Amino acid sequence: MSILKERILRDGQVFPNNVLKVDSFMNHQIDPVVIKEIAQEFYHIFKDQGITKIFTIEASGIAPALATAELFEVPMLFAKKTQPSTLANQERYETDIHSYTKNITSRVIISKQYLTAEDRVLIIDDFLANGEACLGLVDLVEQAGASIAGIGICIEKSFQVGRQKLDEKGISVHSICRIASLDHQTIQFLENYPK
Ligand code: 5GP
Repeated sequence: MSILKERILRDGQVFPNNVLKVDSFMNHQIDPVVIKEIAQEFYHIFKDQGITKIFTIEASGIAPALATAELFEVPMLFAKKTQPSTLANQERYETDIHSYTKNITSRVIISKQYLTAEDRVLIIDDFLANGEACLGLVDLVEQAGASIAGIGICIEKSFQVGRQKLDEKGISVHSICRIASLDHQTIQFLENYPK
């Protein structure tokens, strides 16, 4: 069993609306051993894809994305949720992302300078639920004219529609672990699926 799965079973807490809290090792306090294992698996899966940039959204995607970027020896770029006053409108790409856990829609931005048509991008995020965060990142990559090698997800909630939406766009998704259900405070993993 992966270290991530062990930690989810040991320390994960199930909240209402199928929200899994993993603050003790991923979303608030961060365990580098878990993050390192995640990064190594993403590297193993996508190493032959000509990746030039790892792309995520602040804040929780940054740790796994940075650890992965270190292995690929490429820069890590994150979409910002606050609007920097130093970046003019014509110098940025922007998109709106609805947050599943916070139930708010935020405008996120990146500088046009850091994502270009020459880039081949690996998108990384901590969770995949309804796919809004990933689809927003895909939109930014498309605006830049860059290509997408795939998406790496740490924890996929496979009972929500995110993977289906990304499949429909023809994007390859690799998740370190997939959760089948969080019913009755019990975490069930999806075990048998093609990898
Ligand atoms: P989506 O955009 O796929 O609906 O949701 C993914 C985003 O929402 C992730 O970036 C993550 O921050 C947050 N999220 C979704 N579900 C959960 C969850 O069960 N637990 C936590 N901690 N974050 C979640």
